Amino acid sequence: MALTGVEIFKLLPKTNCKKCGHPTCLAFAMKLAQRQASLDSCPDVSEEAKKLLGEASAPPVRPITLGTGDKAVKMGEETVLFRHEKKFVNPCALAVEVKDTLSDDEIGRLVEEVLASEIDRVGQKLRIDALFLSNASGDAGKFESVAKAVAAKAPAVPLILSTSNAAAAEAALKAVADKKPLLYGADESNADAMAALAKNYKVSLGVVGKGLDALPSLTEKIKGLGVEDMVIDSGARTAKEIIENNTLIRRAAIKKNFKALGYPVITLAQRDDTMLEMLIASLGIAKYSSIVVTSSIEKWKSLALFTLRQNIYTDPQVPMQVEQKIYTIGETDAESPLMITSNFSLTYFILSGEVENSKVPTRLAVLDCEGLSVLTAWAAGKFTASKIAAFIQESGIGDELKNKELIIPGYVAILSGAIEEKLPGWKITVGPREANGVPAFLKSR
Ligand code: SF4
Repeated sequence: MALTGVEIFKLLPKTNCKKCGHPTCLAFAMKLAQRQASLDSCPDVSEEAKKLLGEASAPPVRPITLGTGDKAVKMGEETVLFRHEKKFVNPCALAVEVKDTLSDDEIGRLVEEVLASEIDRVGQKLRIDALFLSNASGDAGKFESVAKAVAAKAPAVPLILSTSNAAAAEAALKAVADKKPLLYGADESNADAMAALAKNYKVSLGVVGKGLDALPSLTEKIKGLGVEDMVIDSGARTAKEIIENNTLIRRAAIKKNFKALGYPVITLAQRDDTMLEMLIASLGIAKYSSIVVTSSIEKWKSLALFTLRQNIYTDPQVPMQVEQKIYTIGETDAESPLMITSNFSLTYFILSGEVENSKVPTRLAVLDCEGLSVLTAWAAGKFTASKIAAFIQESGIGDELKNKELIIPGYVAILSGAIEEKLPGWKITVGPREANGVPAFLKSR
């Protein structure tokens, strides 16, 4: 059962020393109760209190890390059912299946595609995060050699070893355990052997239940065998089952603090029909999966899944914004144009992309509007003639220009007169309304 803030407070040192970053022990206790703070932040908490509070203050969905190094994937730690209540913490990892029955060439091509999948969107690197190696052959030697080959070709990419055959699991684990893969495939028939392997090789275990009802007793059994780090699969495969089971799992973990289902969820989305696969994968991303496995990579599919994931896992309380400054795009000189826009990330990245496309070296003045787009910022009084003029003057950019000219977004043409008044000696030009009009506009000058 989750403890209340007052119950937690009774177990804290009550010295109000502020070392945890909170003004009082009570304030810290309230944050712990809301799972918005970590007990580690209090250096003076007693061992006894740690034991009592550790469980109560742990996130309802257990944190798990897949892989090692820069490309390791963190999952779990979720504390809410709906993003707008706070935020979703660790984005769903996307994995692509590599069957050990494929030819060496086919495996090599898939691994190459995963390595080349990374894109940059709104300043974030997005990619296929992991390889899901499946023991389709049923042969332990084959599985081991594919695991070795894939790990050698893509040493930084986290691996999921999918097999229900303990001998095959051990053969592959011997080869790649140092990469901290997820061993997926523990079920009622092999739970003891798979739990022993996960424990011996210190890896997380993927547990597959025969339906949602059977899953808690299986995770409890495996926990009793000494494995704490699990990723769970209720066996749901249809869209209806996935949405129902994933929702019930998340609700049980968050609302009831039901530890037997408090683990990240893996969803197998592989389908022969690419469009159906894409829809199932989207459903998994939208509804609580921490790993979604697909059978192939197509650019259109990756782009759609990356974008969906990025949108869902963006913190709704923190607008995506870039730093206020004058950015230079290309080799600018004293005659290069100067444009101004807001610091909403999407606006900046779309506009800078279009400027790059134009091949016209340009300076882009980005004004801090608290992450709002141009029109919204203008309506909110954050993209005003006074602020624009102050920013341009303080930046000193005028000294670098042969002709003092500032290009403002077409949507705020109404500001041109006021800016001219506040920036004596400057010419204000109204640019296009939409970013896609920028290349033609810049080239025509
Ligand atoms: S660090 Fe511990 S003792 Fe100090 S104020 Fe925070 S909770 Fe209280």
